[in-house]
Amino acid sequence: MNYITRSTQSVLGYTTYEVIEQVSNSTFNKFVVIYDVISCEIKCQCLLFDSRGILCRHSLSVLSFERVDKVALKYILEHGSKNNLSSLLEFCIGLLIMSWLRCKNIKRKEK
Ligand SMILES: [Zn+2]
Repeated sequence: MNYITRSTQSVLGYTTYEVIEQVSNSTFNKFVVIYDVISCEIKCQCLLFDSRGILCRHSLSVLSFERVDKVALKYILEHGSKNNLSSLLEFCIGLLIMSWLRCKNIKRKEK
């Protein structure tokens, strides 16, 4: 399956993405994913994470598009499927790590 991820808006730490999923040659599904760096939340239009505690493939494609730190992403993927509560917790920890790493990168660039 192919994904086209593009950033549409970025305001105060909020970034909106469009993830276009190619289902067949002529069929495309579009999902809007919002990534909030400050509150460490990623929300997808498909609401898979909200309803089942699973990080959906659209969110993952955004995280990889953002070139989020690979260690943190691996951490989420490896530990994220045990059960809903612990995966939610570990997902948040992972995002905190990613935000922290990103803040560090931004500060480094400013110097
Ligand atoms: Zn989704």
